[in-house]
Amino acid sequence: MSGAAIGGGRMLERTGFRHCPRCAAAALVAHEDKACRCQACGFRYYQNSAAAVVGVVEHQGRLVLARRARAPQQGLWSMPGGFVNDRESLEEAMVREAREEIGVEVKIVGYLGSTWNEYPFGGVTYLSTDALFHCRLDHLAGLTAGDEVTEIALLAPQDIDAGCLAFESYRLALSLYRARQAGASR
Ligand SMILES: [Zn+2]
Repeated sequence: MSGAAIGGGRMLERTGFRHCPRCAAAALVAHEDKACRCQACGFRYYQNSAAAVVGVVEHQGRLVLARRARAPQQGLWSMPGGFVNDRESLEEAMVREAREEIGVEVKIVGYLGSTWNEYPFGGVTYLSTDALFHCRLDHLAGLTAGDEVTEIALLAPQDIDAGCLAFESYRLALSLYRARQAGASR
């Protein structure tokens, strides 16, 4: 097989994969949008959207934001969250990610909605499906910046500049939270 067999499918573009992970032939071609197929050995690989969680973490009307210590979007503000582990529920992932990133146990108040996201990392663009949760923090004891965070801030929702948020899913989570709070106070 020649390199010319490498297709221009979206999954191959996102990953930069060139060789079959099973037989090492440079014979990968696109198979639908999210998969590739090896023309040499028949191997098929699907890169499905990864499940992820985002938490709007509220403490007495203010929201907890964490400044990102690492790429991507280093220096911009994040909400606690991340990719769901194998054999973990969305709710378990939300509580674990908050514990890892800001050092506290959050309570999930409700589900705000979901969206999709593109997460470029190490030359590969990962796709995620983000579940957005409203979480509550009863007290601030233990609130600390984890390894992936340089600084933590507590801000009133109306004072948050959406342009300083690292990802579109955070902006959506903020707007859904604001809309829900506005509806609740009517
Ligand atoms: Zn192969």
